Amino acid sequence: MTRYFRLFTGILAAYLLTACGESSVPVTTSADADLTPAFNSITTDGLLGHIKPLASDEFEGRAPGSKGEQLTVAYLTDQFKRLGLKPGNPDGTYVQKVSLVGLTPKPTATIAVGGKSLSLKFPSDYVAVTRRVQPEVAVDDSEMVFVGYGVVAPEYGWDDYKGADVKGKTILMLINDPAVPDPNDPKKLGEKIFKGQAMTYYGRWTYKYEIATEKGAAAAVIIHETGPAGYPYEVVSGSWGHENFDIKSPDGNAGRVPIESWIHLDRAKELLKAAGQDFDALKKAAISKDFKPVPLKARASFRVQSAIRDVDSSNVIAKLEGSDPALRDDYVIYTAHWDHLGKDPNLKGDQIYNGALDNASGTAGLLEIAEAFTRIQPPPKRSILFLAVTAEEQGLLGAKYYANAPLYPLDRTLANFNMDGVNQWGRTRDIVIVGHGNSTLDDLLTEAAQARGRTIRPDPEPEKGFFYRSDHFEFAKLGVPALYPDSGIEYIGKPENYGQQKRDEYTLRDYHKPSDEVKPDWDLSGAVEDLQLLVEVGYRVAQGDRYPEWKPGTEFKAKREAMLKGRQ
Ligand SMILES: [Zn+2]
Repeated sequence: MTRYFRLFTGILAAYLLTACGESSVPVTTSADADLTPAFNSITTDGLLGHIKPLASDEFEGRAPGSKGEQLTVAYLTDQFKRLGLKPGNPDGTYVQKVSLVGLTPKPTATIAVGGKSLSLKFPSDYVAVTRRVQPEVAVDDSEMVFVGYGVVAPEYGWDDYKGADVKGKTILMLINDPAVPDPNDPKKLGEKIFKGQAMTYYGRWTYKYEIATEKGAAAAVIIHETGPAGYPYEVVSGSWGHENFDIKSPDGNAGRVPIESWIHLDRAKELLKAAGQDFDALKKAAISKDFKPVPLKARASFRVQSAIRDVDSSNVIAKLEGSDPALRDDYVIYTAHWDHLGKDPNLKGDQIYNGALDNASGTAGLLEIAEAFTRIQPPPKRSILFLAVTAEEQGLLGAKYYANAPLYPLDRTLANFNMDGVNQWGRTRDIVIVGHGNSTLDDLLTEAAQARGRTIRPDPEPEKGFFYRSDHFEFAKLGVPALYPDSGIEYIGKPENYGQQKRDEYTLRDYHKPSDEVKPDWDLSGAVEDLQLLVEVGYRVAQGDRYPEWKPGTEFKAKREAMLKGRQ
């Protein structure tokens, strides 16, 4: 059946589908199954029916290693069993154990500058942790150096260190990546360097500590700025103020930069002024390729005492076996993180981070998609995996663990579809692809959306670096083509800027706050349509005659090609 005939059939059927939400004409191609029962099994009630327990106070904000984890893992396992899905772990279980280490920091920090000692209050002025699994880590009297964005990007000929030796020093860094103006139009950012408005991985806090480790720094301090960071300081002080986790490594992270820290912008400005520097002038200098590190007449001392505990956490995984013996050892993997920030006994009033949107909703989406796939007869040719990962809030740890110790070979994993938050504000004409233009998966989603009269939109907030902030990134890093959709912003029947306004409200009011709870005005009808699209695209990959690919120019393409070339 030619592509265009199939497309025509698809458009006709989808037109009928969009008109009433319920499909009356099967979406079929000769070899493919009728997806109507699958689409119809995804409902707003079904979604809410999962979100409510997961985001309930009883689940205590689903922190790894907590009572909330036990309840969540049991809930997910029961749901996968209820759907008749196979245990996803070849050992016959629905879990992959993830060994984590929990570190609860108690830091102190002082900075000697301008002949005085600047004492900083934790967590209001700064936060500091160590990922070294040691009861105490100290940095005494280390020289401070301002290193701009602290980036080494060979592809842009960019090196903020210019050979400066920062071993054993405290480096002060800017968040995000250099906002280099377009030489032809200085009012705009140059697209050719650091992708203009969009944040590259160099802009992420994880990159800052990775390069500080590489450079042998004693401490790395990021200056928090709400715009460039993409979230207010309270998010930093809120999540870094209590137990942080890391994957347990044989060397206890002995090679990591000893101190990882953020400082509030106001205190950073005060520090720089006391050192005879000006924050704005330094920031201006940092957007030039000729930037050189600026030694500060300041010396920093940190001490971080950590309460350490081993935590056995779990990824939860189920499998729908493929129907084609020749292709069932190929996989399509859907992911969503089940964890959130747990409970903070130090908070007054509401102490539970319910994480209704983040990510009880995405986990509910994973369960609804799993149910949908069980309604496809015959089942797809390739196998489908449904993976709910742990410890995303701690640095994508569950996904990192799976990607580095996969239960099924990554070179047989055709695609990852990740859900982190679903649309809770109604139906949209568009759907967003975070990291749009990265892979041929975008084309499949575009086709499926257009068949329903919907449009694709690149991330409207590229400066926030969302592509690097959820679990698909761990798959992408290892070369697996990954699609990370997000809610559209063109709401049907709502004022023009309604979508962006709701996003801003969420970021400011609920993101990583105890108030991220199910709201009475939630409307999940848009989420249902987005999830139906993800079912269709995943199904197409599972049926397809070719592997999805990264597009030329993406940072992951070479890795994938090497992986497939080396495949047995
Ligand atoms: Zn999340």
